Amino acid sequence: GEAGTGRLRMAVQKKGRLADETFDLLKRCGLSLSQSKNRLYARVQEMPIDILLVRDDDIPALVAGGASDLGIVGGNVFEEERAGGRLGSRVPLVKPLGFSKCRLCIALPKEDTYSQPADLGGMRIATSYPALTEDWLEREGVKGATTVVMNGAHEIAPRLGVADAVCDIVSTGGTLDANGLKVAETIYRSEALLIGGPLEGEAKKVADALQLRIEGVQRSRD
Ligand code: ATP
Ligand code: ZN
Repeated sequence: GEAGTGRLRMAVQKKGRLADETFDLLKRCGLSLSQSKNRLYARVQEMPIDILLVRDDDIPALVAGGASDLGIVGGNVFEEERAGGRLGSRVPLVKPLGFSKCRLCIALPKEDTYSQPADLGGMRIATSYPALTEDWLEREGVKGATTVVMNGAHEIAPRLGVADAVCDIVSTGGTLDANGLKVAETIYRSEALLIGGPLEGEAKKVADALQLRIEGVQRSRD
């Protein structure tokens, strides 16, 4: 909880694609932030909420560990942490927010023929989403495929000879195309999620009031 401060804490990405759309949502909710984004916290003026500004990758663990009451994070990051068993027993509740949409895709060199998941059998797949990739491979019954964890430049892994395929976030496909790769499968469709709770007492009241504002913004978009 909100120990000591009496203010709800919500973790959001400090800087990046998700941050841009998150700050836009808060603005549309009629909320303004007091501090510069250089600090760890920004205060919401209109509600008792402190915004914790962090790397998106840290948000699921901060919320699951109770350091933050709420968080806004991509489903890709949240589900990878969950599938990897890193959230422990306190897996937070989830509400889809409808923005920061992207796909997690398996891609292959253009010259490879691909018709079905079994074609990936025995391949080494470069990814920063090993848990989501391995879960999908298992669900599809792909035999002998393994993941190679890379934290960037996945799209060059096949040319480097360190992997046969890639599993990464795709938006337009331009990066894949430029590296001689094509999408074989979409394994996860992601959007931003509001995560956190269940909360009690005053913290729950504030979180409910925030959710009402978010729902208002969502309705006005539909
Ligand atoms: P950080 O410094 O916080 O770790 P990052 O480099 O991991 O930042 P960004 O590139 O800002 O992250 O992307 C954050 C999230 O935005 C992604 O995890 C994903 O949920 C979402 N997203 C939406 N569209 C895209 C896209 N086209 N490419 C990558 N991520 C996207
Ligand atoms: Zn990140």
